[in-house]
Amino acid sequence: MDDLRQLPKANLHLHLTGSMRPETLVELAAVHGLSLPPPFPMGEAHPWEAFQTRYDTARAAIRSTDDLHRVVTEAIDDNLADGCTWLEIQLDPTSYAPLLGGFEPVIETALDAMDGKPCGLIVASSWARSGEHATELARLATRYTKVVGFGLSNDERRGSVPDFVEAFRIATDAGLISVPHGGFYTESWHVRACVDQLGARRIGHGLTAMRDERTVRHLADRQVALEVCPTSYPPLGVASYESLPIGDLLNAGVPVALASDDPLLFGAGVVAQYVIAREVIGLSDKQLAAIATHSIKVSAAPEDVRRNTVEAIESWCATIH
Ligand SMILES: [Zn+2]
Repeated sequence: MDDLRQLPKANLHLHLTGSMRPETLVELAAVHGLSLPPPFPMGEAHPWEAFQTRYDTARAAIRSTDDLHRVVTEAIDDNLADGCTWLEIQLDPTSYAPLLGGFEPVIETALDAMDGKPCGLIVASSWARSGEHATELARLATRYTKVVGFGLSNDERRGSVPDFVEAFRIATDAGLISVPHGGFYTESWHVRACVDQLGARRIGHGLTAMRDERTVRHLADRQVALEVCPTSYPPLGVASYESLPIGDLLNAGVPVALASDDPLLFGAGVVAQYVIAREVIGLSDKQLAAIATHSIKVSAAPEDVRRNTVEAIESWCATIH
């Protein structure tokens, strides 16, 4: 595991609440007098709602800008310790806003905690909210030069792609990277729709793309990346580790970036995703280095960070047998 920690990489799919250290959640819940549900039960498949209720409870423990600042700071520290040279944190300000004084204080607190760190903010709306709400957040996101992307999280079955076209047009016109979640539960058509209608440059998950050769070609031709987060799939019953088609995607020319999604709920940071890819899925170290290279190349990292990371990955490769 240590050698994979030393492999330079970018973590591009990490939700703010889901990045919280378990001990921080316990501490914040105690401070605010909240009771916590038992941890997400691993090892068996559960419906989305089992995940969402735990996520909502954890988010409710962030009740001040100080709490939010602490969570972002700790997430950056944890990812740097995992060998990340670049991190993108995804934040939907909607649910924090009532307690923290509006969308702007939420976004500005996160940006403040990221200041001077190798980290970019992705403002995200939700498939479960309206297109108008996403448009409002997209407009807001474009006002901050340090916001690097615009996303859509939650269960994609709850929204309709055309409703979000306007929001993503505003975001991409302003130079933000389009990074919606897609193809988690829905079939490959959804991944294509995110690319064609929302201008997706990366898809959060997008695993169902692999079921359709035309969609795989669509991604490869346009070099649209998939952010694959192995530990998120077995607990939600969408895929086993063994069935993850990462090697096939790489062979087909689709950029793949391994990411950690919600370490708080699924119990694993970004290095653990690489360990699973090596030890359970059977990817070679050369393939893992290719994934790390994709992760930085499809990121919003500044040019010097990208160049240095690619060089450092090449040095890491020189040390493997
Ligand atoms: Zn996610």
